[in-house]
Amino acid sequence: MPVYEFRCLDCGRRSRKTYTFREYDEATPVCPHCGSHEMRRRIGRVALAKSEDSRVDSMMDESALAGLDEEDPRALGQFMRKMSQEMGEDLGEEFDEVVDRLEKGQTPEQIEDAMPELAEDAGGVGGGGFDDF
Ligand SMILES: [Zn+2]
Repeated sequence: MPVYEFRCLDCGRRSRKTYTFREYDEATPVCPHCGSHEMRRRIGRVALAKSEDSRVDSMMDESALAGLDEEDPRALGQFMRKMSQEMGEDLGEEFDEVVDRLEKGQTPEQIEDAMPELAEDAGGVGGGGFDDF
């Protein structure tokens, strides 16, 4: 089952949740830290992970990633930069580095190899649910 990463727009905390594809279609993620529904899916492990299923692509069409060609690192990088500018906040050096690397045409796999802390950040998910349960 895929793990989705969310970032709360109210408190800025990150959380992860495991959904089946079917669940994700209907799910309304809630921040486990402050209860906010203003959860934005992070471009993180999921977006960077290889799609095992074409349904991921159709799912993307319905999300903020509409129109994004995930196979194109530069397009993804530009999207992420645009998103961060629209949010008007500093998403951190890690985010900037990912965007830079994407815009240089690096694949998500290359970026993860080069930035092991990304994998570390998202690692250790055992069985799903929010981390802080
Ligand atoms: Zn929150």
